[in-house]
Amino acid sequence: MLPVLPIPVFLARRARRMSAPTPTPSYALSMTGPDLDYIVTRKRVKNVRLTVKAPSGEVRVTAPPHVPDREIAAFVASKAKWIVKHRDRIARQPAPLSPGPEANRLRRELRRAIPPLLDKWAPRLGVPVPDFTIRRMTTRWGTCNVQARRITLSLELARREVELLEYVVVHELAHLIERGHGPAFHAIMSQALPEWRLLRKALNEGGLAED
Ligand SMILES: [Zn+2]
Repeated sequence: MLPVLPIPVFLARRARRMSAPTPTPSYALSMTGPDLDYIVTRKRVKNVRLTVKAPSGEVRVTAPPHVPDREIAAFVASKAKWIVKHRDRIARQPAPLSPGPEANRLRRELRRAIPPLLDKWAPRLGVPVPDFTIRRMTTRWGTCNVQARRITLSLELARREVELLEYVVVHELAHLIERGHGPAFHAIMSQALPEWRLLRKALNEGGLAED
């Protein structure tokens, strides 16, 4: 998932002032801005949100019903640089792994690589070693099911540096202590892996998000 942009103040004010009393159906409208095509979906949301979808690079905007088209166009135009940057990033991503011998080989490699990392990091974080699952995931590097004490890691990690796999393992283990991504979570990460922000940046050059 890519970042969601906050609505500029002038749009937020207008959206509040013009908020409709009756529900408005959502619809998509293809528009051509000054530099790029984008799809607008009208929804009863508070903010204008802009996302660049992978792998297509398609730009999608979700906007409250009464923000005028021209203001959305101006908003998109103001984010043109950001959009181009993210489209470049998406274009550099390798195609997702499809099932087959290569995926099977990578899965075996990853299945061997993960247990030593869990054995190293679970005691350091003071959590029991969790079960793990490897799955083909296209939007997440990893997830943590706190209740079941199970972490799930993306097969895509097999194609990345072991330091980045380690970062995701530590991130998911940290969720066994702290569910959210707030200051408490960051403090755990900083204590365990002081360079985690750099690792996250390197990892996200590849597009997926941790969870
Ligand atoms: Zn997370």
